[in-house]
Amino acid sequence: MKALLMRKYKELELADLPVPSIGPAELLVRVRACGICGSDVHGFDGSTGRRQPPIIMGHEAAGVVEEVGREVAEFKPGDRVTFDSTVYCGNCYFCRRGDINLCDRRQVLGVSCNEFRRHGAFAEYVAVPERICAKLPDEVPFEHAAMIEAVSIAVHAVNITPIPLAASAVVVGSGMIGLLAVQALRLAGCGKLIAVDIDEAKLEMAGRLGADVRLNARNTDVPAAVRELTGGRGADVALEVVGANEPVQTAIASVRKGGVVTLVGNLSPKVDLPLQTVVTRQIRLQGSCASSGEYPACIELLAKGAIQVQPLISAVAPLAEGPSWFDRLYNREPNLMKVILQP
Ligand SMILES: [Zn+2]
Ligand SMILES: [Zn+2]
Repeated sequence: MKALLMRKYKELELADLPVPSIGPAELLVRVRACGICGSDVHGFDGSTGRRQPPIIMGHEAAGVVEEVGREVAEFKPGDRVTFDSTVYCGNCYFCRRGDINLCDRRQVLGVSCNEFRRHGAFAEYVAVPERICAKLPDEVPFEHAAMIEAVSIAVHAVNITPIPLAASAVVVGSGMIGLLAVQALRLAGCGKLIAVDIDEAKLEMAGRLGADVRLNARNTDVPAAVRELTGGRGADVALEVVGANEPVQTAIASVRKGGVVTLVGNLSPKVDLPLQTVVTRQIRLQGSCASSGEYPACIELLAKGAIQVQPLISAVAPLAEGPSWFDRLYNREPNLMKVILQP
């Protein structure tokens, strides 16, 4: 089969590799669409240590079942499917509680690190455990299904944030996850929805996808503006989807006393904590990792058109163009959001 293989850091080639063999509880999926994730682009130069060559990356994918292992019960060849990026064990303490995103033996498709190597979906075929797969209705195109992993991250973050009807919410960061979070917060019944970024084009998109107010942090005192919009109090909740010092400070300073900040972005390993603010204003800070059982809901939301992903897709290209798209993303070409490859 053809696969986009990273043989060395920053070197991708379209290679001929054997079709993966499947275990008894696995599906062989003929990949029809696979998105390039920011984590693939960051990992591509070795800086994260999570894409150690040789590796076939790609964990945001959808396709058609080609073959099933003998223990597989829920799927058959010909089924349209998508799958989670997290491969969980099903047996550990956390899996048994239902917290599959926190699995002690968690692996991620298309990732190779010191603990494991699992080839991903930038290839004609990928082998995936049945337990991470979900059937796709006909009305969800493969390219949209390849966005479900990203959708699930936003939906999970919203699901673990207490949001009373008409709550005011701030989303700090209007990149892809931020734009999905805006849509998920709207569906969760938020009232005033405030999007923050430093890029006007992203803010404009946030407005189109449901944000009531757009604040450019480059020229606005965001916490002051949020207070003004919320009766002087601050917002009920904030989602931080960048993962850097300044946006985290902005999120904490934008919520009211007793408010909740859900932290999704994690680019920087450390940020400053305004301890006295958090303690004396009784602010709750919580992390949100990947997703935990939200795939069926996300598929439903996409099928109904309740969450729109088409505006976030910058390009759909054949797998052979993968190396040049990786270069363009790595060199931070402006206005590129999701690029989807079709093996
Ligand atoms: Zn991803
Ligand atoms: Zn587990």
